[in-house]
Amino acid sequence: MVSCSVTNCKNTSAKISKNKDGITFHRFPRDKERRKQWELAINREEDWKSTPSSAVCSEHFEAKDFYLTESGLRRLSLYAVPAINISPCQEPEPTISRVQPVEINPSDSEEVIQLKYKVHRLEIIAENRKKRLNQMWQGKRRLWKKYERMKCLIKHLVKIKKDKVIT
Ligand SMILES: [Zn+2]
Repeated sequence: MVSCSVTNCKNTSAKISKNKDGITFHRFPRDKERRKQWELAINREEDWKSTPSSAVCSEHFEAKDFYLTESGLRRLSLYAVPAINISPCQEPEPTISRVQPVEINPSDSEEVIQLKYKVHRLEIIAENRKKRLNQMWQGKRRLWKKYERMKCLIKHLVKIKKDKVIT
């Protein structure tokens, strides 16, 4: 059984079903530096150390920290660090599993219900990707403008230099 390393979190793999609750467990990174980041982020007692079997549940990562593999598996991004719903003093934040409920008909089989949840989660991931793409697009436009400004500046400088050489 895997249990979440966040002190205030009671999620364990025995209690949680991935398809129904949408919660997954993620082991601490093997990379020393990133493991340290996680250990600090979950704010345990000072001498607490993660073990190879320690994990943090998906409730402590932002929805944007996840991506889907080509086969449809949900994975955590390489640089994700637990950040939300860690301390009771933190304002609770929506996670990838706490999506608005899908519409379920009385006639839906368990399989259909699970698929509906899955589709819904995929929609959220797609939405996040769209947002990121948009941000990147805006970033590109900003860089382009900056490039144009620099080009103009260089031309100007060259001109000044030439003028100086002449005089
Ligand atoms: Zn947890």
